[in-house]
Amino acid sequence: MKYISTRGETAYKPFNEVLLMGLAPDGGLMLPETYPQIDAVTLEKWRGLSYSELAFEIMSLFVTDIPADDLRGILDRTYTAEVFNGAEITPVRTLSDGIKIQALSNGPTLAFKDMAMQFLGNAFEYVLAKEGKTLNILGATSGDTGSAAEYALRGKKGINVFMLSPEGKMSDFQRAQMFSLQDENIHNIAVEGMFDDCQDIVKAVQNDAEFKAEYQIGTVNSINWGRIVAQVVYYFAGYFKATQSNEQKVSFCVPSGNFGNVCAGHIARMMGLPIGRLIVATNENDVLDEFFKTGRYLPRTAEHTMVTSSPSMDISKASNFERFIFDLTDRDAARVRALWAQVGAGEGFDLSAQLDKIRHQYGFVSGKSTHQDRLQTIAEVYKTGGELIDPHTADGIKVAREVREVGEIVVCLETALAAKFENTIREAVGEVAVPRPAALAGLEKLPQRVQVVPNDTDAVKAIISKVCKK
Ligand SMILES: *Cc1c(COP(=O)(O)O)cnc(C)c1O
Repeated sequence: MKYISTRGETAYKPFNEVLLMGLAPDGGLMLPETYPQIDAVTLEKWRGLSYSELAFEIMSLFVTDIPADDLRGILDRTYTAEVFNGAEITPVRTLSDGIKIQALSNGPTLAFKDMAMQFLGNAFEYVLAKEGKTLNILGATSGDTGSAAEYALRGKKGINVFMLSPEGKMSDFQRAQMFSLQDENIHNIAVEGMFDDCQDIVKAVQNDAEFKAEYQIGTVNSINWGRIVAQVVYYFAGYFKATQSNEQKVSFCVPSGNFGNVCAGHIARMMGLPIGRLIVATNENDVLDEFFKTGRYLPRTAEHTMVTSSPSMDISKASNFERFIFDLTDRDAARVRALWAQVGAGEGFDLSAQLDKIRHQYGFVSGKSTHQDRLQTIAEVYKTGGELIDPHTADGIKVAREVREVGEIVVCLETALAAKFENTIREAVGEVAVPRPAALAGLEKLPQRVQVVPNDTDAVKAIISKVCKK
């Protein structure tokens, strides 16, 4: 399997290389040259597999340059009952109104990003060891991505993690989650500034080619292909759990921000998994809902992005969206370049002529959920089923209820656990004990490790060089 860029100006690359890449050199995103096709016989064979066996069958179609036994080893180490709090890995349950929920948040940081990031940690360690290389991951986080990366890379040989976060801006839980890690290779850096300042520092370091090369600086952002391919697996797993036979179709409803999660669903559908519709749920930051309703994509700047109670979806420029548009234009890289030139110029683009194709050929629909919708959905699910759902998942359920057709099987992806967002939960249902996995009891009381630095790129560079020169 060879990989190509959505902008068409990058030489073919193997998986091993794509795994460690961010953007392609031409500014595009990497995708497989073709999507493997799964026939009915194969699908039937896969129905009874364990999660890690299924992951192996699917991923070995995309990862042809790691020996099969090694890939199997990586996946067996990743998708364990210990890491994901039970052998099912992504169990599916049904709400009182028939909507199904696939739990993707049973990993160490209680959010779906663990599903892919845990794989990435083990795959990075494997590839680096094989090539005798080291890597220094530099990232900026407002909460979820940084903790998922740290829990995936803690203790991994050949890897250091330098994670910037805005000082005092994360929740107590998020702070405790990251800063309580005592692993030597994890470096928490609290910047006296906002999340955007942290991102600017990461960009400044990335743009210093000399420093970047000297210190082998890498990233694990949401455009990484390794993350997308690992996410394809749970669409198959969810499909099998929600159906009795492969004659049935399932629609997936996905709380979306950077379009990484639902992009994996699109790929599963392109491979032939019987997915009916892909339902994109947004919060008040509804750039994607606008696109799927009108065909117009008008990304917004940070000043026009709202801070909401489903914060991991507060995104107005969906970094993985280009992958879908590449397929929508029948993989016309010149067209994609032209469209993203318009995005770069702040104009966005209009593909309303393609709406029919977007809906009927690709199965996309969308909806939006606001703070009030979210609170109402959390309260209603609690009242009718006695369970507490997280605000992002609530956005998904709200939209799924709105668009569901008679007889349609809809699986909502649960992207986080309520325990991460206690304040919003209390706002919705009043004083309740929000259940938390036993392993995280007393998390906020653990000793914390963090260095506070001024909002200054050189201060961050100094920390990196000090650690690396040891
Ligand atoms: C990251 C995240 C999302 C958004 O996922 P994308 O892949 O960026 O669309 C939704 N919910 C939660 C809880 C997240 O952490």
